[in-house]
Amino acid sequence: MKSLNDVQKLFPSEDGNRESRENFLQLITTLLEKMDGMKRPDYASLGHEKQRETNFYQQLIQTAEVPLQGESLSHLVDSMTSLMTGHPYHSRYFLTNVLPMASIPGLIGQLTASLLNGNNLWDVYGPAGAEAETKVIAMMSRIAGFDVNESWGYTTWGGQGAVFTGLRLAIAKHCPDAVEHGVPDNLYVFSSEQAHYSLIKSAEATGIGRSHVIKVRTKRDHAMDEQDLASKMAKVIEEGGKPVYVVATTGTTDNFGIDNIQAIKDTTNALTDMHGLPPVHIHADSALGGFYAFFNAYDFKVNPLNFEEKVLTGLQIITSKMQHLHLADSLCFDFQKLGQTPYATSLFLVKNKEDLSLIDLDAAESPYVGDRGYGDYHTSYTLECSRMASSIAIMAALQLFGVEGYQILLANYVRVNLVFREKLQATLPELCVTNPLNPGPVTAFRLYSKTNNWEMEVDGQLTKEQIMETNKRNEALFEYFGAHRARIFLGDTKKFDLVPCKNDGELQPVYVSKFFTISPYTEIDHIPDVITFIQEAVEATKSTESEVTFSC
Ligand SMILES: *Cc1c(COP(=O)(O)O)cnc(C)c1O
Repeated sequence: MKSLNDVQKLFPSEDGNRESRENFLQLITTLLEKMDGMKRPDYASLGHEKQRETNFYQQLIQTAEVPLQGESLSHLVDSMTSLMTGHPYHSRYFLTNVLPMASIPGLIGQLTASLLNGNNLWDVYGPAGAEAETKVIAMMSRIAGFDVNESWGYTTWGGQGAVFTGLRLAIAKHCPDAVEHGVPDNLYVFSSEQAHYSLIKSAEATGIGRSHVIKVRTKRDHAMDEQDLASKMAKVIEEGGKPVYVVATTGTTDNFGIDNIQAIKDTTNALTDMHGLPPVHIHADSALGGFYAFFNAYDFKVNPLNFEEKVLTGLQIITSKMQHLHLADSLCFDFQKLGQTPYATSLFLVKNKEDLSLIDLDAAESPYVGDRGYGDYHTSYTLECSRMASSIAIMAALQLFGVEGYQILLANYVRVNLVFREKLQATLPELCVTNPLNPGPVTAFRLYSKTNNWEMEVDGQLTKEQIMETNKRNEALFEYFGAHRARIFLGDTKKFDLVPCKNDGELQPVYVSKFFTISPYTEIDHIPDVITFIQEAVEATKSTESEVTFSC
């Protein structure tokens, strides 16, 4: 039987004694040793894949039970090691979606937040979080081009949480009554076809309704088509609807399309002015791509980091759009993506801090915290109540990487992708890069028969059957990639874009594979291996494919 004293040993010490610290450190050392022992730079996973029966989760449900007596600390490392075994790991061949490696400053920041375990809800409970949060809000406001005296923000649950809060603000600005009485049934929101599905969920959760999300066509570079936005918005207004919110994606998840916020703002303002309506709230969904704003102040002429010509050109293309970020009313930086920190460390920013007061609670409605003579920082405008101090990890990363550290890393993603595209097309002409106009951390590619290609498809020259056949071929390809992901881990998507088919112009989704550079360890030297791997996959799927003939 265990005593209270045994249970107390499961906690950090009360008095800072050395023995307790060394026991704790010993556990961490052993855990790291176990993890390091499983690392293999040539594979994208830790150790060997765990065998999983088809009824794996069902078996877990049948056997999992809280033990009556807790296990010993030595069991802890074993059980953590078992969880790590076969886990995807961010080595050079980890090329799937934006699932980054958490950096050491990010980890130390997160550990500090956990050691303190303050509640970021109120500075009386979490002073470290309040201090770090204030700092990162100002730091990133400056990067985005916001006025730090006007802007504000907080850390939240993901890029999705930011899209959601942006919508709450949009509703509150357009219908102050809605905060008390609920949303009217004539509000409409807009995003491009390439936008993240966050908006669809947000429309449901705010009560606007999913059918009030209007999808806007994209252009060749996968950025929002402002003319289509104008005509769809005009139609909504003519039919008595009220446009309140436009999500401008600045760096789409699948192809790094960057919406032009300046053009979007001009377009929406012209329409709302004409109809005597208030301007719509523009949220830049910069969760992924916003980090390229670290180049907004880069001196491209002097080029202090000596980037090669091609990389420089790529970065300039990105920056030409990212420089408009400050025109958005709200935006987001998902530090758990290109910010190099652990999950979940997302920063939501608003250009005008008064916007947040529209959704704030009265002091009388939060009786436990906030409204006291002590403490000045109470986040009663967040949807969360208790909040982790994820800003500490963000602050640590920003301080250690510095602007240059981020520039070096982000430029390397562009470099690796440019070389990958070149080599891929040279080696495998039946594969087309489907985002050739978008330099960035991701390359999308699609396998065609000899007679088809992406240009024809996007131009509407292929029949529905041909598009579907190509989808099938690509599905086989990414099933192969999936089965071999412990070696080289590529990504894929079943809705890369919508293309019109030749028959009747009906829009069809397009399946593509993705090469997403996210590991700091992926360099151009590793590309030949990736190309060989893709080549093997193409051969393997070809040999299983039944002969198909096309009638182009
Ligand atoms: C990842 C992403 C999101 C969702 O962010 P989470 O942090 O997963 O909630 C939203 N929008 C874009 C553009 C993204 O890349």
